[in-house]
Amino acid sequence: MTSRDGFSAEEIFTQTTGYAYNDFIILPGYIDFTPDDVILETNLTRNIKIKTPFISSPMDTVTEAEMAIGLALWGGIGIIHYNNTIEQQVEEVLKVKRYENGFINNPIVLSPQHKIRDIDMIKAKYNFSGIPITVDGKLNSKLVGIVTNRDIDFERDRNKTLAEVMTTDLLTAPEGISLSDANKILKTSKKGKLPIVDKEGRLVALMSRSDLLKNREYPLASKDEKKQLRVGAAISTKEESKERLAALYEAGVDVVVIDSAQGNSLYQVEMIKYIKSKYPSIEVIAGNVVTVEQCQNLIKAGADALRIGMGPGSICTTQTTMAVGRPQATAVYRTAKYANKEGIPVIADGGIANIGHISKALALGASTAMMGSMFAGTHEAPGEYFYENGVRLKRYRGMGSIEAMEAGGTNRYFAEDSPIIVAQGVSGAVVDKGSLHDYLPYLIQGLKHSFQDMGIKNIPQLHKALYSGQLRFEIRSQMAQREGHVHDMYSYKEPKYM
Ligand code: GDP
Ligand code: GDP
Ligand code: 5GP
Repeated sequence: MTSRDGFSAEEIFTQTTGYAYNDFIILPGYIDFTPDDVILETNLTRNIKIKTPFISSPMDTVTEAEMAIGLALWGGIGIIHYNNTIEQQVEEVLKVKRYENGFINNPIVLSPQHKIRDIDMIKAKYNFSGIPITVDGKLNSKLVGIVTNRDIDFERDRNKTLAEVMTTDLLTAPEGISLSDANKILKTSKKGKLPIVDKEGRLVALMSRSDLLKNREYPLASKDEKKQLRVGAAISTKEESKERLAALYEAGVDVVVIDSAQGNSLYQVEMIKYIKSKYPSIEVIAGNVVTVEQCQNLIKAGADALRIGMGPGSICTTQTTMAVGRPQATAVYRTAKYANKEGIPVIADGGIANIGHISKALALGASTAMMGSMFAGTHEAPGEYFYENGVRLKRYRGMGSIEAMEAGGTNRYFAEDSPIIVAQGVSGAVVDKGSLHDYLPYLIQGLKHSFQDMGIKNIPQLHKALYSGQLRFEIRSQMAQREGHVHDMYSYKEPKYM
């Protein structure tokens, strides 16, 4: 038998040199399928699967509700940052949770005495205007009508009561009906809303036709058992986080990320144990870690996933200032090898600048990739666009930058009580990337092509090939890296995305 070309990951990543994504390349495999045959489903945590391996970073210039909704619709998940008050963070989680529903179990309800302008206010805040009307404006009271946009859009007098404009001839469905049966009624009735009532005619839930359309339009969406979009939220290891956690739990958060630059600490171990005992239904992503020993501690404490990376982030100065960290490719390979054996998925966090880096992270054993700079320039990231030298930009900053810490983010860096703040990140800008709804399908399709080139159809198969030594790698010299990028052109136009 001839020996195989290239090297196994074990041969490459068990050396004295630590490697970055750009240092190595994956050798091609055999293609007998199309990119459409590639399935990117993966484990976010021990118990949550998602269809697209993308996570947006918990950073105040990256993830609030709009980003989290966009990612969840395309099969990934967003982690809401905590550089804000508890109320603000909860508000963002609720926006994601309310965005799509099966049964809307806590619909906003008004009474016949309310005015049209009350609906205007609801519309401005929540972006919907289909409101069931009960005798006293409360859920679980007798349903007397419904007001939708069509009842009020041409009405000039916004002080009119809802009693004057509501539709009273109602199609309803009985409490206890299955979601699919209720959906059938919605489809055939051609109505926008379907109130669900109990035997006495009291409103118990609402359904919206637009949810059927959302479900059809976004087949990859990451959803919980109630058909609401999944969302994560970051917390720190500080005492204050216990109050945050309670509120996030109430809001229905699916996962929490314990956000710490060096996660192997007594505080974190205690926080993991606290969450797992008090809120067993919440999945805990612990980190950040980069060595096997660090992983051992957090897995033992009960972590459901680990976030890997110390210093590879685009905005990050940790390795330079602290002299501690690890090159990201090596960190991902070493930690994933250990954690995967324990049944714990790892998240490759930071340093991802293109589709190839996502592929490489997955090929080294990661189950998902967390990205900040990749998403910071999209329309859905917080903040406004601005121009510099004619280029349209958005602000992007490290959570350990002076600016972010002054806005409240010292938690992550154990700097809370010190009079002097040492920066571990910078603040700057990234180029406009347009809408996530164009960008994410592009990233997904690109990743599928990359899998096809490797001859691999899905992430479990990729990890199997990695650990059996079937997947082959090679280190790239500096010249090879240059050769592997565009070169010797007089001029050229970069593609919109890489
Ligand atoms: P399952 O969860 O694997 O059984 O499959 P699906 O989630 O695709 O669908 C189960 C039923 O729920 C079907 O009738 C879907 O049309 C419906 N469904 C899925 N998502 C939503 C949603 O967001 N809203 C509503 N109203 N129905 C949904
Ligand atoms: P509307 O016709 O103006 O009510 O708005 P749409 O039907 O376009 O959007 C309603 C969306 O908001 C659906 O996805 C609902 O699941 C969601 N939603 C969440 N909470 C509520 C609520 O309390 N009332 C209504 N009407 N929709 C809600
Ligand atoms: P990017 O995708 O931009 O390369 O990196 C994003 C990741 O960098 C985040 O998910 C987070 O782990 C990390 N990060 C965010 N802010 C800072 C910071 O100020 N300093 C350091 N060291 N890392 C940061």
